Amino acid sequence: MNEWRENVRKSTKDFIHNYGKVTFVFISLFIILISAIVIYKLITPQKLKVSFLDVGQGDAIFVQTPSGKQMLIDGGPTNIILSRLDSEMSYFDREIDVIVATHPDADHVTGLIPVLEKYKAHTIIESPVHSDTKVFGELDKHIDVEHADMYVARTGDVIDFHDGVTAQILYPQKNYQEKKNDTNDASVSMVITYGEQSFLLTGDLPTAKENKLFDSGALPKNVTVYKVGHHGSKTSSGEQLLSYIKPEYTVVSAGKNNKYGHPNVETIDRLQKYTKEIISTIDRGSISFVTDGRMMEVKTDK
Ligand SMILES: [Zn+2]
Ligand SMILES: [Zn+2]
Repeated sequence: MNEWRENVRKSTKDFIHNYGKVTFVFISLFIILISAIVIYKLITPQKLKVSFLDVGQGDAIFVQTPSGKQMLIDGGPTNIILSRLDSEMSYFDREIDVIVATHPDADHVTGLIPVLEKYKAHTIIESPVHSDTKVFGELDKHIDVEHADMYVARTGDVIDFHDGVTAQILYPQKNYQEKKNDTNDASVSMVITYGEQSFLLTGDLPTAKENKLFDSGALPKNVTVYKVGHHGSKTSSGEQLLSYIKPEYTVVSAGKNNKYGHPNVETIDRLQKYTKEIISTIDRGSISFVTDGRMMEVKTDK
């Protein structure tokens, strides 16, 4: 009997010796992993973050809502968007809830192609215009195989993230007729609202169409952040719009020494009359606004 007990004791000891360490390491790693996930969830702020990514001459705006929903509005002119998203998203996150292509121009949609290759998009929102360009054709092919829910943006549509954040489409209007060469004219324009804070994004919408934003009945007076139309071009951000929205912050998304001379000096003069602060991706890199719906915090790369 004693011998049997001794044998059991010895084999248990051997078992612990041989496998115990391995099991211990696995259990420890598992606990560390679970703790890391819990800590990550806890430290991820329950706030709205809107980031104007530094993608050179183009637009790419990444939105993360308090409940963690993500929306990407345009992808900029190159695949630099991927490294910009790396700094906004967790390494394991390969999904984006909503992707918006404001209009088919290359400086807005080229980067969406590598984005669709890397990430699964659940909903894709487009403007009513199409284009014959190679890049737009390529984007179309990628959208075809994505099997996302597709929408054409129309005035009055609301994307409700069900956590206090909404994105309301202000333009193009429901009866918008497609004109192939006027891609800027059909730029999807929206206002993102969270509590007292609002963000007005108008793609490359020209002044001639800015009056249509008023027709929506949803254009807020005194917006917090205005992404300047068409990278600060002379033909956008007219007096009528600026004097109504009086943005606290105006963001210029453009590339250093770009061939268009964006932002235009006259536009900057006009903006300075109505806005408290102009911030440009040219000088500051990516620009992020973080808000709980009341307070606003601005963070820049440079
Ligand atoms: Zn553009
Ligand atoms: Zn454009």
